[in-house]
Amino acid sequence: MSHYSQGSVNGQCLCGSVKYRVDEIGEKMAHCHCSMCRRFHGAAFATFGEARKEDFHWVEGEHLLQSYKAPNGTVRRFCSVCGSSMTFAPANDSGDLIEFTLGTLVDQPALTPDAHIFIGSKASWYAIEDSLPQFEEGRDSKQLV
Ligand SMILES: [Zn+2]
Ligand SMILES: [Zn+2]
Repeated sequence: MSHYSQGSVNGQCLCGSVKYRVDEIGEKMAHCHCSMCRRFHGAAFATFGEARKEDFHWVEGEHLLQSYKAPNGTVRRFCSVCGSSMTFAPANDSGDLIEFTLGTLVDQPALTPDAHIFIGSKASWYAIEDSLPQFEEGRDSKQLV
């Protein structure tokens, strides 16, 4: 994974009990349209940034995180106080990276999302109107646009 140097950015959940800092965000930031991320966010899609685990720090409230492991092995963590979606981990988690919800950032990231993924399960009521590349499933799947 490549990185873009921009300095640290901070994030927090809705109630502020859980706070984190990311020292360096990776370049990959995708809008995920899969049905599980849609439900996790209660929204048309989820947007995740990624960072090396050594660059991601829980500043407050890590003990308040709860996790949900789905039947496919993916793990999503959320604030147990306010329900904010915080992180995602794939079933085959390498342990090197952490994916966090871009919507919980307090500071502005230097880069913006670069792809739409899992378009194959996109909500029918949402139309993509930007020019970012679209993938049927993950980034290694068939590119549709
Ligand atoms: Zn919270
Ligand atoms: Zn997803």
